[in-house]
Amino acid sequence: MADLTYPWIVAVLDKLPRSAAALPRALLLTGRPGLGKSATALFLAQSLLCETQREGLKPCGSCASCLLFKVGNHPDLRMLKVGQEEESPVSGALDEEASPAKKASRQISVEKIRMLTDFVTITSHRGGAKVICIVPAEAMHPSAANAVLKILEEPPGDTCFLLVSHQPERLLPTIRSRCFHLAFSLPDAGPALDWLKGQGIGQGELALAQGGYAPLAALDRAGDETFWSQRKALLDTLAEPGFDPLRAADHAEDIDGAVVSTLLSQWAYDVAALKSGGAVRYHLDYAKSLKMVAGTIPIDELMNWYDAVIQFGRVAQHPLNKRLAMESLLSGYPTRG
Ligand SMILES: [Zn+2]
Repeated sequence: MADLTYPWIVAVLDKLPRSAAALPRALLLTGRPGLGKSATALFLAQSLLCETQREGLKPCGSCASCLLFKVGNHPDLRMLKVGQEEESPVSGALDEEASPAKKASRQISVEKIRMLTDFVTITSHRGGAKVICIVPAEAMHPSAANAVLKILEEPPGDTCFLLVSHQPERLLPTIRSRCFHLAFSLPDAGPALDWLKGQGIGQGELALAQGGYAPLAALDRAGDETFWSQRKALLDTLAEPGFDPLRAADHAEDIDGAVVSTLLSQWAYDVAALKSGGAVRYHLDYAKSLKMVAGTIPIDELMNWYDAVIQFGRVAQHPLNKRLAMESLLSGYPTRG
């Protein structure tokens, strides 16, 4: 973690001071999943803890603090993330970038935040900064968020907060207003494709499109064979002239609800784009089928169905009856007129 190798993050880091000592005490890293926010938070955490005098934000990688960080055992770091049994310092890649949906149902409890109260009041073990990293911050239970707010309101001078958020609008405005915002936006396709190529990804364009144009999500997608086969099974049914909602539901039932919602909303988006003279953005490999569909589906029916897909997306992680939900959703798919 001593170095960040994602080329699109250079521009993000340029928004920060060039030394760890000058970094804001509370940073909010925002943007969609798959852009490297967590990796950046870890990089900055190590930078804040590094004990070597140096220029720039890059940690030295060899001081006592950097070594403790690398083995995931730095006493002045608290890493809180969803799905974690205890808040031990963690180094290395986090899985949140790749699978945000899995985490959406989990919360960071107030008990975990309360344990931070001791951490912020005691003196730093190594005499430097103390760092608290929360991933993602919107996973905090409301009471946990209030407890964090209390700490942020009277920040101990040596404590730094690194809050990662995929959906900052879900955070308390009072938390947002106390943080310096570091926004991650989608990189241009060119550099993202070059990077994916460097990672050995063959069909970079399709992977990027299916990763919502976020490179790390694309990398994750590219290697997920189950995703591609499940996607093919579902999209093939949508592409058929004689669409069969029950058969589509058979395939959709096998797929994670959030993924179904994403695939279907992307399908509707692509059809709508083609109908309005635009181009396919997500399902590049189905361009031909999408054009045929776009030529026959009325736009108002398509938009109604799109609304239903978005509605479904909001409860996709825990529908009361998945089979029924899929049948209902796919029965509303406009048939060709
Ligand atoms: Zn160091």
